[in-house]
Amino acid sequence: MEIFDTHTHLNVENFVGKEAEEIALARKLGVTRMNIVGFDQSTIKRSLELSAQFPELYSTIGWHPTEAGSYNQEVEDMIVQNLANPRVIALGEIGLDYHWMEDPKEVQIEVFKRQIQLSKDHDLPFVVHTRDALEDTYQVIKEAGIGPRGGIMHSYSGPLYMAQKFVDLGMTISFSGVVTFKKALDVQEAAQ
Ligand SMILES: [Zn+2]
Repeated sequence: MEIFDTHTHLNVENFVGKEAEEIALARKLGVTRMNIVGFDQSTIKRSLELSAQFPELYSTIGWHPTEAGSYNQEVEDMIVQNLANPRVIALGEIGLDYHWMEDPKEVQIEVFKRQIQLSKDHDLPFVVHTRDALEDTYQVIKEAGIGPRGGIMHSYSGPLYMAQKFVDLGMTISFSGVVTFKKALDVQEAAQ
């Protein structure tokens, strides 16, 4: 069996110098390919370095909702420039985060919309991070419309009826370890 882990952060500080070791460990468990998700300036840079260095690694790059306030033309140009890299296979993670609420909703929504558009312009799928913002996330995706490559609700942790609404839009749902939490009954119901 070959498992493709679509969402890892080997690009964060905890793993500096231990990447090869982690890749070998993953391989032992059947994980033969991994997607390294960059979400700000330094993690995007590191993701691109790693996917250039290791054939089993790919990059997904985007501006995280908690960084929305620093999104500008320069950032967008940097992302667009790197989307041309064949090792970059998706745009993300992008979305809305009303838990940390680093920036006003309107700013987050605008940055989310712009990046969904980028994913469509470049014929790539997009990876969604959403926290305490399911309803608005749904509205933004619905209004923006998804491209033929679709998108994925990363680490979905909402109820069944919302999961169904995202699926109806054409989104894919991913479940992470959250689904194993004893109290996450609604997530378990959605997964079932
Ligand atoms: Zn992530």
